[in-house]
Amino acid sequence: MSTPQADCIFCKIVAGEIPATVVHESPTVVAFRDLTPQAPTHVLVVPRSHYANAAELSAGEPATMADLVDAAAAVARDDGVGEDYRLVFNTGTGAGQTVFHTHLHVLGGRPFTWPPG
Ligand code: IMP
Repeated sequence: MSTPQADCIFCKIVAGEIPATVVHESPTVVAFRDLTPQAPTHVLVVPRSHYANAAELSAGEPATMADLVDAAAAVARDDGVGEDYRLVFNTGTGAGQTVFHTHLHVLGGRPFTWPPG
């Protein structure tokens, strides 16, 4: 298990040190609403352990990667967006990653286009 990083905002949310609207929790993951939502449902599912991105989580805790996807499905169901939702891992600054603690975006409640911006 990766140790919490003192300067990581999502480690602080997981630890309850800064507030967040938590919508789902399990022993391995926490899901909370994004501060600047890009859709009616916009939730971030994060592992309790600190990993910088999806690939590092998958290498370090593969079972938790599955837990993230399962939690995303539960969040979508609980938010009433059914099976129409988008899952996104931004990896690297060039792809739009701004927080370097693995997080799965769960977006739903509006139509989506492809390709993404
Ligand atoms: P990224 O751009 O894929 O790294 O996504 C980071 C996301 O975290 C963005 O959508 C931000 O709006 C969101 N975010 C940053 N700080 C907080 C916070 O304190 N609470 C909830 N969401 C946050």
